[in-house]
Amino acid sequence: MAAILMKLESFLVNPGDRDPTLYVSRTGRRGTFMFDCGENWTLEPRLLRRVTHLFITHCHIDHFIGFDMLLRLKLYEDKTFEVYGPSGITDRVEGKLSGYTWNLTPELCLKLRVHEIERGMVRISRFDSRQGFQRYEEGVFPCPDNLLADGEGGTVTFAELDHSIPTLGYAFQSEDLLHVREDRLNPLGLEPGQWIRDLMVAYKQGERRERFELNGREYESGWLQDELLVPVPGVKIAYVVDVVYNEANAGKIIELVRGARKFYCEATFADEDYDRAADRFHLTARQAGILAREAGVTELHLCHFSKRYNGCFDTLYEEAKREFPNVF
Ligand SMILES: [Zn+2]
Ligand SMILES: [Zn+2]
Repeated sequence: MAAILMKLESFLVNPGDRDPTLYVSRTGRRGTFMFDCGENWTLEPRLLRRVTHLFITHCHIDHFIGFDMLLRLKLYEDKTFEVYGPSGITDRVEGKLSGYTWNLTPELCLKLRVHEIERGMVRISRFDSRQGFQRYEEGVFPCPDNLLADGEGGTVTFAELDHSIPTLGYAFQSEDLLHVREDRLNPLGLEPGQWIRDLMVAYKQGERRERFELNGREYESGWLQDELLVPVPGVKIAYVVDVVYNEANAGKIIELVRGARKFYCEATFADEDYDRAADRFHLTARQAGILAREAGVTELHLCHFSKRYNGCFDTLYEEAKREFPNVF
């Protein structure tokens, strides 16, 4: 089986004891996502330039300091860069932009659109480099089902969480895909071509009686679909960092993350430092494991370890594994 229409890849940009930043690329689709934007200068510039949607959980420095690097690399793109974040994100972005002088650069063409999420509503503001990144308000809109439109290939939802300040958890759900069994083309005397795309469209429309003329023979779309197409359900990737463990947060996180293939979660503290974790509004590794288990995820990926555990991060993995076996 081959010819995957969209390949979804996700990875943490930094080792566990460095700033949390998750990169999600979708080959064959428009749109590359970055969740948080801490230290990111270890990433190749071409990968940073590809980021089209940036989802910020909150603006503590370890989650936002890499924004300038992204801005620097994307300045000459004639595109709109979408930025999402919690209450206050628009002022923070404006603060970053106003930290520089923008005269004598008429060749800049980047546009930023900032989506500020608060109590289920989203306030949208635009910043255009051609107007010196002056701020324009587009308005405040409801955000039904906490759903953020992403353009193509899937959707992002959010949960509004507590980290002593508002913070957001995010989940990306890719759309259902169709894989093509390329190995069956040759035995059937068929060659790849535009007709496969047409066949996929017919499949999505539930059309099984469409006629396909291929190599001088006529085929019905239903027969070709059965022979060649395999539906593959979409995948969920969830990202939750910097939250306190309480009933309200846990309930919202479990709902957001439920059924995720990959759950990226902070494990800042060990459970022996439970009180310290609560004081700092962070999770312990054990709590990350409990959330993964309750949400029924496939893989738990730990990140954002406190440097106090340098040299003994295995303890954090072992602790999470006691609650949920599939820890990475
Ligand atoms: Zn924080
Ligand atoms: Zn943090």
